Amino acid sequence: MSGAPPSEQAPQSEPGRSTLRCVRVPLATTPYDVWIGHGAAERLASVMPDSSRQVAVVTQAGVPDVVKVELPALRCEIGDGEAAKSLSTVEELCRAFARAGLTRADCVVAVGGGIVTDVAGFAAASYHRGIAVVNVPTTLLGMVDAAIGGKTAVNLPEGKNLVGAFWQPASVLCELDALDTLPARELRCGYGEMAKYHFLTGEDLLSLPMAERIARCVAIKAVVVAGDERETATNAGDRGRAVLNYGHTLAHALEVAGEHDLRHGEAVAIGLVYAAELAAELGRIDAARVAEHRRVVREYGLEAALPPGSDADALIALMARDKKALDGLTFVLDGPRGVEVVTDVPRAAVERALGRMSGLVP
Ligand code: NAD
Repeated sequence: MSGAPPSEQAPQSEPGRSTLRCVRVPLATTPYDVWIGHGAAERLASVMPDSSRQVAVVTQAGVPDVVKVELPALRCEIGDGEAAKSLSTVEELCRAFARAGLTRADCVVAVGGGIVTDVAGFAAASYHRGIAVVNVPTTLLGMVDAAIGGKTAVNLPEGKNLVGAFWQPASVLCELDALDTLPARELRCGYGEMAKYHFLTGEDLLSLPMAERIARCVAIKAVVVAGDERETATNAGDRGRAVLNYGHTLAHALEVAGEHDLRHGEAVAIGLVYAAELAAELGRIDAARVAEHRRVVREYGLEAALPPGSDADALIALMARDKKALDGLTFVLDGPRGVEVVTDVPRAAVERALGRMSGLVP
């Protein structure tokens, strides 16, 4: 993505409490707008399909009530955490939709973090073979990542996100007021994903005010999604949706190892620095670029070291089982052409790069 156009976004002034920014996700068949700012949720009525006669608001206890729905509305609260991202929650939601008489012309409104938008999105994709969904992400991670791009999924006991669908929202409303109540650790998790965007283009995102930075991250994701809507570009050298997994190979291994109290965004921060160390090990980037990764992660208040006691062999075994590892050890790495998929990475380089991260068992 290096050298990508500086911005695909079209900031727009809207009457209201502040200037809202609008980023278009330029998909060939179903383009849609992401609105970002204080007061974005007030646009709900204007982004729902005109055909809607009632809506189902899917949310969680503790999520601020940021949308005002003028149509008859069914409110569905789902549980908290990954356990709630299940087929049984989807069944409960669809049964509630049916009892309320929701039709194909109506609309689901998902108000919450990535758990809510993933589950509500999959329920919307499945109910009546697909009804409209508007995402109103209330976590930073949801705003810069989960709510955009149309990936919806639930977990099985056998693994995360194993059942799902590509189902694009009708619109996404990033209501920045919601961030006022977000716990500090959840904010940091969003920062982990946000840090990733610093390396997908050559820009200095840290110099931007936060609202603009969120909009810029959305714009970067929008361009990537539009170029590879269904993540088919996964071969060596590909720079499609797979680049959004920058930093995620080690992050997933750390999460699956499950021995550490690490949230996803915190694991991604470590994974980003590891990806830089590995790219340097392979001669793809220089020491200054590695230092840049460490600086960005640090500026977001995130740790770059492996958790104490991490076991290198166990982490390498888990990385080799990564679902993207079609050809040997596969990573998304920075390099002269920007961030891209790199296959058949030699194990020795993977080990040496791990050795450069502190926190390993000697
Ligand atoms: P989350 O949805 O679990 O939200 C974190 C916690 O914050 C929850 O307890 C939630 O109730 C609470 N919360 C949400 N908004 C709040 C607010 N404004 N104020 C106070 N509390 C609030 O976590 P998340 O990090 O948003 O999402 C993680 C999920 O997103 C994972 O399941 C991940 O797989 C998924 N995800 C999906 C995609 C995608 O493209 N579909 C991308 C990235 C992540």
